[in-house]
Amino acid sequence: MLEEFIHVPRVAYFSMEVALRNEIPTYAGGLGVLAGDMVRSAADLMLPMVAVSLVSRSGYFRQEIDTQGLQVELAESWEPQLWAQSLDAKVAVTIEGKPVWVSAWLYVVEGHSGGRQPVLLLDTDLNENEPKDRELTNCLYGGDPAYRLKQEIVLGIGGVRLLQALGFDIFHYHMNEGHSALLGVELLRRYTYPAENIREGDSHYDIPRIRKMCSFTTHTPVYAGHDSFDYTLVTAILDGTIDLVLIKQFAGEDGLNMTRLALNLSEYINGVAKSHADVSSKMFPGYKMHAITNGVHPYTWAAQSFSTLYDTHIPGWCHEPELLTRAECCVSDEDIWNAHQQAKMRLIERVFALTGVSLNPNIPIIGFARRMTAYKRPDILFADIERLKNIANHQPFQIVMAGKAHPSDKEGKALIGELHQHLQSLVGIIPSAYLANYDLTIALDLISGSDIWLNTPLRPYEASGTSGMKAALNGVPSLSVLDGWWIEGCIEGVTGWAIGDKDTQNGGTSIALYDKFEQVVLPLYYQENKSGWIKVMKSAISKNASYFNSHRMMRRYLIEAYTR
Ligand SMILES: *Cc1c(COP(=O)(O)O)cnc(C)c1O
Repeated sequence: MLEEFIHVPRVAYFSMEVALRNEIPTYAGGLGVLAGDMVRSAADLMLPMVAVSLVSRSGYFRQEIDTQGLQVELAESWEPQLWAQSLDAKVAVTIEGKPVWVSAWLYVVEGHSGGRQPVLLLDTDLNENEPKDRELTNCLYGGDPAYRLKQEIVLGIGGVRLLQALGFDIFHYHMNEGHSALLGVELLRRYTYPAENIREGDSHYDIPRIRKMCSFTTHTPVYAGHDSFDYTLVTAILDGTIDLVLIKQFAGEDGLNMTRLALNLSEYINGVAKSHADVSSKMFPGYKMHAITNGVHPYTWAAQSFSTLYDTHIPGWCHEPELLTRAECCVSDEDIWNAHQQAKMRLIERVFALTGVSLNPNIPIIGFARRMTAYKRPDILFADIERLKNIANHQPFQIVMAGKAHPSDKEGKALIGELHQHLQSLVGIIPSAYLANYDLTIALDLISGSDIWLNTPLRPYEASGTSGMKAALNGVPSLSVLDGWWIEGCIEGVTGWAIGDKDTQNGGTSIALYDKFEQVVLPLYYQENKSGWIKVMKSAISKNASYFNSHRMMRRYLIEAYTR
């Protein structure tokens, strides 16, 4: 069943998480959705790639919100046999001195014009393995550091070995974040100089060759967001299988830092937006940091009403999203508005079904959904409740929010509780809802059905952000702090609006948010004639959706990273 995939050399794209479809919970958030969009674009463009990830049988977690407004985490198990085919090949990796066997499931992503992309989901739940090793591929981002390191051994080392066992010919390795950096350690083992060619004291590892074959994309400007493992732990788990002196040279003396390892073994390194590349260069001085700004997959992130509209007026947009620049003049105001109101009705129905809250289609909805964590500042909209109520008195609006917090992120979980209380205090004044269990389908309905997409990160912690790009594809303008992709995407008053300016220390305070919302955004929405508002919607599509898509991103990776 692999024949169709192994006859051409491919790029191996490694990611700890990947969002393949809503029924397959092998992702936690933005990183996994981006990985999924990357593979979907590769399928559309028929590029030779193979993605490698973990099967994560228990998923990340399913979120429920209890009556106090607090997050409850439940397992979200799935059955790989319903969606993927099991492959025969097995390879062993050595963990704590014993072999752990790794096998894989094959999931095939199908593109819109017949392209097919293989995705390997690695699995250690095999009879050969001891019970505790069988669980290594269960919980995405679960467990303690030992569990995480073992998962990263399975992904990086197991992944490279399995690709070889299956007959894949890999000409380039792309590490999506540092979790898979141990693949470099496996390549060190594979590419050595013949003994007779090396002089006394020289390295026998063919490092230039490995560096040429590897690219690395870093995704987080938070230092603590980069995995680092204590060498005592590394020695206990990997003893006898790695050259510790060599590893320390590449991954740092103080701990095995996966980002350092990836940086040192990759010739092409990039951040996910221009400003993120600058921030990363400062965090890791001495490396040449490129920038490939993220994008979203056009077909996946267009609401049904917008796909239909684009199919009619901009044929070919799925393959060449650049064509969306034509939305400005080739689609009528009325058609844009109708497509939007359809998407909005869909959201309103879903909100009612999930929460019993009734929203009004003639009143603007402000949408906010992302991982709930301190730097995203989901609470700044509520910093001055009296002012917020006062704005709503004169220019009514509604609020819909969603998002999960990582189970060990206490602050993020506390924020969900606080939001619940704020929304409670607005009952009867500002209709609002919090949707539990943010996933791919809620994201599509919520983002496309909102009128304004809000984003309030603390600068410079938003590496890129992608939900605002999904909004643009559906003609929904962003109201956002100037961070990540929005520094590139914001043309003030044309594609959306900035909160605060680019240079103030805090980059967008609640006061700046209220001012812009009350004095600029809502008045435009409530103008007698909707044409000013629809003009912004169209510019979001023609100027931003045409550019911030994963087809452009994928073509750039191909040309600038993989086939340099
Ligand atoms: C797009 C998406 C994200 C990432 O959104 P950001 O704007 O980057 O925070 C997270 N979760 C889901 C389900 C998404 O669809």
